[in-house]
This record gives sequence, C-alpha cells and structure tokens, in this order.
Amino acid sequence: MKEIILIKLGEMVLKGLNRRTFEDVLLKNIKYRIRNLGKFQVRIAQSTVYIEPLTDETDLDDVCEKIAQVFGIVTFSRACVCEKDIDDIIKKAVEYTEEPLSEVKTFKVESKRSDKKFPLTSPEISAQTGGAILDRNPHLSVDVKNPDITVTVEIRDFGAYVRCQTIRGQGGMPVGTSGKATVLISGGIDSPVAAYMMAKRGLKLNAVHFESPPYTSERAKLKVEKLLSIVSRYAGAIDMYTVPLTKIQEHMRDNCPEELFTILLRRVMMKIASQIAKDTDSHALITGESLGQVASQTMYALNCTNAAAETIVFRPLIGMDKQEIINISRRIDAFETSILPYEDCCTVFTPKHPRTKPMLKFVELAEREAGLDDMIEEAIRNTVKKTIES
Ligand code: ATP
Ligand code: MG
Repeated sequence: MKEIILIKLGEMVLKGLNRRTFEDVLLKNIKYRIRNLGKFQVRIAQSTVYIEPLTDETDLDDVCEKIAQVFGIVTFSRACVCEKDIDDIIKKAVEYTEEPLSEVKTFKVESKRSDKKFPLTSPEISAQTGGAILDRNPHLSVDVKNPDITVTVEIRDFGAYVRCQTIRGQGGMPVGTSGKATVLISGGIDSPVAAYMMAKRGLKLNAVHFESPPYTSERAKLKVEKLLSIVSRYAGAIDMYTVPLTKIQEHMRDNCPEELFTILLRRVMMKIASQIAKDTDSHALITGESLGQVASQTMYALNCTNAAAETIVFRPLIGMDKQEIINISRRIDAFETSILPYEDCCTVFTPKHPRTKPMLKFVELAEREAGLDDMIEEAIRNTVKKTIES
C-alpha cells in the first residue's frame, strides 16, 4: 500500500504573511530536512503539502520525525493513497486502519470531497466506508461526537487518500520568513532555548560563541557545537562564529575595577556580536537572559549591556523562570547536553561581588580607560567560522 505524508497549512498563519513566500520557504525547508532520507516529490496544492516517497526503501517514520521538527507545520498525517474509485477506497481504508482501530472502541469516518467530479457525496463516502470497517471490526462502534479515532477520506485533485492519525507539528513560522538574527550561544541551558524560540518565529540563525583558551577548553567548545547541532534540527544550518576573548579578559582583569568585570565583558560581547551581525546580513541579536537570574541580569545591568548593542536584542526568556526554561530545554532534547559540566568564559575571573546596579556612566568610563577598542577589532579578525548542521 502506498503511503504519503499530508501537511495541512493553517489558514490563520497564511493570512498574516505573504502566502507565496511562506509556502516557498516552507517547501524548501521541508526538502532540506528530509534530504538524506531518500527521493521525494514534494508539492503543494489547496493549502496542503504532499510528500511522496519515490523509492520503496524510504522509512516514513524517519520522515515524520523530521517533519515534526519543521517550523510552520501545525499538524500532519500519514495517508494511504487510493484510486479515485469507491471500491478501492473502501478496500484500502479497511486494511490501512486495521491496526490502529484494533486498539480502540469507537470511531467515525469523515469525508472531504474537494474534487466535485467524484460521483458520491461526502456522506455517502463516509457511510459506505464506515459500514465496511464495522463489518470487518465487530468490536467497534460508531461515535460521531467523540470517537477514539477519526478516519478521514479525502477526494482531492491529485487522488484519493485515507488517513487516521493526526500528528502535532512544531507550529511557528518557516525559518527564513522573518530574516536572520545572531544568537549569543554559551554552553548553558538558556541560550539554546532562546535560539529555538526565535527560530520558531521564522528567524534564520547564525551564532556567536566566545571562548577564552586556555581558561576554557576545547571540550567546552565541542559542547556548544553539539548544542547548536541540536538547535539546527529545528532551525536549519547555523553558521557559528567563535571569537577568542582571552586577551580582552586578561586585560580587563589587570586594568578594570573587579566589580565591573562581568558587565564590561557582557558589553564587549554585545559589541562584537553586533559587528558580526552587521557583516552577515543579520538584523537582531538573541540572548538567553532572564530578568533577575544572576547579577548581570538585573534590570540595571541589562540596561548597561543593552546600550552596547547596535541592533535590537531579543530576549525571549526574559519573563520565564528556570523551570519553564528547563521544560523547553528537555522537550527540544538539549538539556542533557547543556548540563554537562564545562567552563564558560563568563565564569573566568568572576568578581566576588559583582555590581547589581551598575551605572552606565561609570561603566563607560571604566571601558574608555581600559582602551578595549583595538583588542575588540583584533578578536573579530581572529574569529573562526564553522557551519553546523544536523
Ligand atoms: P546560558 O544558560 O545561556 O549560559 P546563563 O544563565 O548562564 O545563560 P550568562 O552566563 O549571564 O547567563 O549569559 C547570559 C547570556 O549571554 C547567555 O544566555 C548567552 O546568550 C550569552 N552568553 C554567555 N556566555 C556566552 C559565551 N561564552 N558565548 C556567547 N554568548 C554567551
Ligand atoms: Mg552561561
């Protein structure tokens, strides 16, 4: 029996956006995500995407797993392909639904006939198909209000289909429909979640990671690459820019007031990330900051950090508490990697008593006195780019 995947595009999503762009980008993203799973025909008609495997070896379970990670898809289903002929539809419907229906007590058949040339009406198709299923499964009864399983027969322009399980997708908007943004990615729990959340709003991502060898290790960087590859399951390929901060951090240690180390470092990160964003057609920064979580994330500290950024900064976690963030981290399968114990450059030379209410005036003064501009340029010159894909 030939099986395909049908993806329904929510009308609500299509209204607000340019529909053609939305559809084109979604199709491109779907093709990219299943590129290693076989040959497919992927096409769109009547607000439905059809994914048809062109080779027999393709495992649709694998395809479904990938589709469930693509933003812009609210629900999708596997469906069995039938001829546009009621006898073939009935025969295949009985066979195709046998296994799922064996585990439940009630069902109903729903029919949608968008090809009006088909000789039977929707109620007739439902009645005949439902009757045949009942004959074959004496343990079942029909419940039109609240069935355990709804079997849907669709008569469309391309063909006829039977499906009975709807799978939930990620929702959101196709990656790329909102432009590109740069996530500041650490090895922690928060920034991968922030990256995921903004990709869900249709942003393509690139990423900046700051390292301070030898204070931070190669393994710490590999952990960040692993986290980005997890994010890329949802967000697509991500260019990662790794920036060395050792020299700047050592210089700050020797020349700046200790209680300002953290806030000065955060501002350096913002400046460098802003420059990289500018050079890569990216128009926003993304961080995993959450109000009050640590000394550098008080409102006062965030004001000082924010003032160093040259574009808008998205902080999708700002109003969330740690448990809510962890829940998302687990759901996207990043948590186990995030909690591996490696050092981060933020924890190098951490002050004993960081300022929780830094004043921008004094921070800027300390920054000028430290004379960091040349070192910032040098760090940007020594940045290494690597593309991360899953
Ligand atoms: P996370 O869990 O994302 O590491 P955090 O709670 O540890 O966040 P901070 O260490 O203060 O908080 O970092 C706040 C944000 O700054 C991070 O969410 C991330 O966006 C960015 N950031 C921190 N360290 C780095 C780094 N080494 N490279 C790039 N960005 C970083
Ligand atoms: Mg951190």
